[in-house]
Amino acid sequence: MRALTVEPGRPNSIKLEDVPPPPQSDGDILVRALALGICGTDREIISGAYGWAPPGAQRLIIGHESLGRVEHAPAGSGFAAGDLVVGIVRRPDPVPCPACAAGEWDMCRNGQYTERGIKQRNGYGSEQFRLEHDFAIKLDPALDKLGVLLEPTSVVAKAWEQVERIGQRGAAWQPRIALITGAGPVGLLAALMAKQRGYDVHILDLAKDGAKPKLARDLGATYHAGDLGKLEPDIVIECTGAASVVLDVMNRNAPEGIICLAGVSSGGHKLQFDVGALNRAMVLENDVVFGSVNANRRHYRAAAEALAKADKDWLGRLITRRVPLGRWQEAFETRANDVKTVLDFTQ
Ligand code: BGC
Repeated sequence: MRALTVEPGRPNSIKLEDVPPPPQSDGDILVRALALGICGTDREIISGAYGWAPPGAQRLIIGHESLGRVEHAPAGSGFAAGDLVVGIVRRPDPVPCPACAAGEWDMCRNGQYTERGIKQRNGYGSEQFRLEHDFAIKLDPALDKLGVLLEPTSVVAKAWEQVERIGQRGAAWQPRIALITGAGPVGLLAALMAKQRGYDVHILDLAKDGAKPKLARDLGATYHAGDLGKLEPDIVIECTGAASVVLDVMNRNAPEGIICLAGVSSGGHKLQFDVGALNRAMVLENDVVFGSVNANRRHYRAAAEALAKADKDWLGRLITRRVPLGRWQEAFETRANDVKTVLDFTQ
């Protein structure tokens, strides 16, 4: 079968090659790939800055935003041939740490977790892959090709769950304004979930025109191209990882504000700022700034529900390019107006 592989740590080593069929040890369910979403993490792995091959291997099959159809599933697994499925990305560490032991591998305490297509486990960027039945999520068939959005949605479902759990610390917390920074797929999906929760949603991005402002407005959100004016959000989901944006949102929230950092910065961008003034504002206003990564089974289920009740036409417009596997190089180019690019395994 064909698979997209990289040698982690070596820049631009990505190639499409023939590899043996997925081993039984990857799981009891055999899946035929339909689509693979491409994200910033994949680009980082391709650049050589991130990613780890499986033990004893030199190359890693990349891809973690999966969508496939079950070809074979054993009786009693809860799955059957034809089911539309997505694979969970992370696997618990083998120790396991208390978080992984409780099924919250997204909160792994010792860093020994593994991730399909990212960290020490082959990913979903191959014509077939295998899943353990308890790491496969069955989708509503009506979602069809939009199911490829499940993994990024699971990441924001976790972010929202964490925000709301933290919010429980205040007996009368009644947030109204939610700011999402970044109108990429993660930002727009975070905004979708904010809208579903009934917030007054604001989205910040640099794009002045094109798909992003239109998607934001069609969601019923207020779009800000680069300038937030005096906006004082109660909740921020920061999805850019850009140092200046991170700093700005930490300095502008309303009292009792909760800021979730969900974008991974590349590092190396130094800014001068007044730590004491930030401390003062955070203490005097009971602010919380926290980080959020990955997702566990509960978050995938919440994400599946969020996608099921979203407007299918709007979701479809998030996927701005579908590239056939044969032209895979194009999927990793970044083009103006891209929101989500997807590799299509069916053409
Ligand atoms: C994935 C997460 C993963 C993180 C760090 C993200 O792109 O969506 O599942 O935990 O990268 O490796």
